[in-house]
Amino acid sequence: MRWSRYFLPTLREDPKDAESISHKLMLRAGLIRRLGAGAYSYLPFGLRALQKAAAIVRDEMNHAGAQELLLPALQPTDLWKATGRYGVLGDVLIKFKDRTGREMALGPTHEEVVTDLLKELRSHKQLPVIVYQLQTKFRDEPRPRFGVIRSKEFLMKDAYSFDVDAEGLHRSYQAMYQAYVRIFQRCGLTVLPCEADPGMMGGDVSHEFMAPSPFGEDRVARCRRCGYAANLEAARSQIPASSPAASEAPTPMDVVKTPGKHTVQDVSQFLKVPATKLIKTLLYDVDQGHVAVLLRGDHEANEAKLARVIGSAHVKLSTAAAVERLSGAPMGFTGPVNLTGVRLLADHAVMSIVNAVTGANQPEAHLINVNPGRDFQPSVAADLRFITEGDACPTCGGPLTVIQAIEVGHVFKLGTKYTQALGAVFQDADGTLKPMIMGCYGIGINRIVATAIEQHHDAQGIVWGRALAPFHVLVSVMMSDHPEHARLGVDTADALAAAGFEVLLDDRDQSPGSKLKDADLVGIPIQVVIGKVWDRSRQLEVSVRATKEKVQVAPRDLAEAIQKLLDKVP
Ligand code: ATP
Ligand code: MG
Repeated sequence: MRWSRYFLPTLREDPKDAESISHKLMLRAGLIRRLGAGAYSYLPFGLRALQKAAAIVRDEMNHAGAQELLLPALQPTDLWKATGRYGVLGDVLIKFKDRTGREMALGPTHEEVVTDLLKELRSHKQLPVIVYQLQTKFRDEPRPRFGVIRSKEFLMKDAYSFDVDAEGLHRSYQAMYQAYVRIFQRCGLTVLPCEADPGMMGGDVSHEFMAPSPFGEDRVARCRRCGYAANLEAARSQIPASSPAASEAPTPMDVVKTPGKHTVQDVSQFLKVPATKLIKTLLYDVDQGHVAVLLRGDHEANEAKLARVIGSAHVKLSTAAAVERLSGAPMGFTGPVNLTGVRLLADHAVMSIVNAVTGANQPEAHLINVNPGRDFQPSVAADLRFITEGDACPTCGGPLTVIQAIEVGHVFKLGTKYTQALGAVFQDADGTLKPMIMGCYGIGINRIVATAIEQHHDAQGIVWGRALAPFHVLVSVMMSDHPEHARLGVDTADALAAAGFEVLLDDRDQSPGSKLKDADLVGIPIQVVIGKVWDRSRQLEVSVRATKEKVQVAPRDLAEAIQKLLDKVP
């Protein structure tokens, strides 16, 4: 391919509205262009990387025994109503009426459609089955950002497994999990498989493949000692010993006036007690009415955990009016002592505080020397909070750290949520009808490419790994108006292409300086420079983008030298 005729426009300056590194570099290196909010065109150079990622995903899916199919993006919303996800997705689901007046949606994911299709399998003898597709998904994301990392239209590989029992599901899940590990390894990404909150998909077991990056929108808790990793939404920590600290004996409870002190910080400063000795009481509006959640002053409530502990689909902080009605005091003065009429749920960490400070359920007052068990008794002590940096790892006790990460893949054990709702039943060996047991497995193809750039770049531009690099070799003719050099450039590019390399020839009429800058920006792993070195010594200068290592080789040894260098590129 000749760059002079290739649609690969580069930009010298960082585009103003691009925040993340991959977004900037994908625009500057001519991979993508923005059409509208969350919608991007892939230029030929970018599409090559995207297709390489897709090919690796396809290869590993096929290896794992999954069968490729293709489901329509255009879907009647009836199916979404049948599973109840129409309401759950809300405005994320892009919907409209077709010419007959029927409401349609553009698929944000395909559990409904695939289950409806696989219903055709009626016997245990036809199971298990894993199917997958590479298909464009549409989600009207409230905050599209970071270019193709969070867009409204994106390419996903989504796979679905159908099994007869839980052991079967486990095998399918493991097969997909292992395939994901290989996919990300082959794509050159560093990822942490993390325990995840199953969220809107339902089901109980789920892992996310998280790529550490400062621009990640997810936070991951991780233990460097044993390798435990979990999305912060799901991350657990070791429960502190519930016996009161030996150093302090419980003293009698008392009321103190705290005029105008509503927040943990205010109260802690005013009474000169650390936030770790405060118990904050949050009232939540849930399916069952209202509940009170007790947390240590420096901890934050994790509503996903709360929802699971109480089995409520909706969890929302109670309104100020409800707080006043239930506690008898304005917001900021609620406490667990004599708080009747609501269930008390305590986070584990609350149970070991000795002589705590908490709201008095009276205006402008707090209680001091409150002791859990003595002064109030929660109906359950559970894990209800986000872990914090330094908390003890739930498996080994080592310190947890919190890092930012990009979710590139997600695997779920779904169970029978969709098969039950849509009547996907099979006849088991004993003749009984049972719903199939399902798993689903997604990977964002665009995110693979963007994440590879987030993880592999330098100040000059992209540093492609071998697997996703749009081309292996860039042949740069420094003076394109020099007839001998121009000829040599073409011959070299042709010879390398014939040897099996993917080659881009920079034959543009531009200064050597700008060609070298562009070479660094677009980041092709190996560059062959035809210029002064050739004039001096009849040798080609070969350089490695990642390490800047340079060697000089004669034309006849070029292919072999490049192969050697390329083999060392990760
Ligand atoms: P997120 O939490 O980032 O919104 P999700 O959990 O909703 O993602 P899934 O439904 O699990 O996403 O989709 C599977 C994969 O599709 C994700 O792991 C991610 O790689 C990719 N993906 C999801 N949403 C987007 C998006 N808006 N733009 C690009 N890729 C996406
Ligand atoms: Mg997900």
